Amino acid sequence: MMHPSSEHSSAEPLRAKDTQQSGTPPPLTTAEIIAAGAELLTPFRADTNSLYLTSELNELGIEVVRKTIIGDEKERLALAIARGLQENRLVLVTGGLGPTEDDVTRPAAARALGVPLVRDPEQENIVRAWFDGRQTPMPERNLRQAEMLAGATALPNALGTAPGQYWEREGRVLVLLPGPPRELQPMWREQARPRLRERARAAGWLHRTLRLGELGESRVDEAAAPIYTQYPAITTTILTAQPGEIELHLRAPNVAGRAEQVAELADRLASALAGHLVSAHGESLERVVISALAARGQTLAVAESCTGGMAGERLTRVPGASQVFNGGIIAYTNSVKQEMLGVEKTILEREGAVSEACVRAMARGARRLHQPDWGLAITGIAGPAGGSPEKPVGTVWLGCAGPDDVLEVRARRFHGERERVRQAAVFSALWLLWQTLNGTM
Ligand code: ATP
Ligand code: MG
Repeated sequence: MMHPSSEHSSAEPLRAKDTQQSGTPPPLTTAEIIAAGAELLTPFRADTNSLYLTSELNELGIEVVRKTIIGDEKERLALAIARGLQENRLVLVTGGLGPTEDDVTRPAAARALGVPLVRDPEQENIVRAWFDGRQTPMPERNLRQAEMLAGATALPNALGTAPGQYWEREGRVLVLLPGPPRELQPMWREQARPRLRERARAAGWLHRTLRLGELGESRVDEAAAPIYTQYPAITTTILTAQPGEIELHLRAPNVAGRAEQVAELADRLASALAGHLVSAHGESLERVVISALAARGQTLAVAESCTGGMAGERLTRVPGASQVFNGGIIAYTNSVKQEMLGVEKTILEREGAVSEACVRAMARGARRLHQPDWGLAITGIAGPAGGSPEKPVGTVWLGCAGPDDVLEVRARRFHGERERVRQAAVFSALWLLWQTLNGTM
């Protein structure tokens, strides 16, 4: 245990696992990130630095095993730093390097390490020069920023006055970085990352994403868990990416043989979930739909009511969509449905705009738009108003008309607020087309 409560005691004696026979410390494989700042504990500011650093550390083959947010409290911060170095040997602290009373990272780190803070003349000159350059008098307290942990290397701050610090002893590394992302990121790239790269397992991190459609997280887990639990070295997580869409993330450090295992696991999951697979390589549904149509030399147009053009927007996100996507009609009112898509007045009067008969007519009507091979239609009640007992809010009809008189329709009932219903409707429409194209209806 390190001694957070005594200012000048040294870190604990070396343990066997901290050095190899040669005396070189083992590579850093795990890390912990501590974000310091009371504002990060309010609803007004999120800790985004740790997301950035996690992705960067993963690229170096370092896994982040704990993230902590601590207000401007020296004692708590000192304890967290000491615990982190004890358990993971690499700790990054962001924030609290400024000149004010609430910036406590330097003294907290000194306490955790049991080393004194020493005023560094070179850093002092840098701070003074920064103020001279702006012709403003330097508040005396800014000299706190020139205080270095004994034994630390200063990491110059190109965009502010507070230098970062890199401290290393007996196989343990503590990095202090500034809070503002625009200062932290260049300091990380130019100063901290090159140093840590030397100390990390260089091969990085393997990451594979499978995308699935129209299946809940628990259903995915039911099918996937018996398979992925056979690969304990690979971390598998299931996330809802957006309404209707599930992502399976497979992640593992890139050690010998692991890439083959990740590929094998991905293949097994892809075949177990084949009927729901959008892509085994992380591609979006709109992208796989566009690629499939392009491969067949076929085209598509859409007719949208409640989604107001969102399907067209999603399809046109894909570069090169123009090869496949003719365009669409936002048929929001009954009159536009009649005039632009040819939906019969009697259908609208008898069945209403949210009905099977209407979506069939809309899907066929979309095929009038420069004669595409496929017409895709969406009509529904996004809410919050407009529902009825027979057609509650969230009821959406989807239709897909294609060559050889193909006409597939289905109804869905989505839950949640307006935007969610609309997003889910777009996903389901593209999913209907995808299934129709694959003959997996
Ligand atoms: P300064 O010299 O600007 O005071 P500092 O290193 O002391 O720098 P903080 O005072 O902790 O940093 O934070 C300054 C600002 O940086 C915060 O108001 C916030 O906008 C941003 N910031 C701090 N920590 C984070 C974080 N973890 N994620 C995103 N932004 C952050
Ligand atoms: Mg500050």
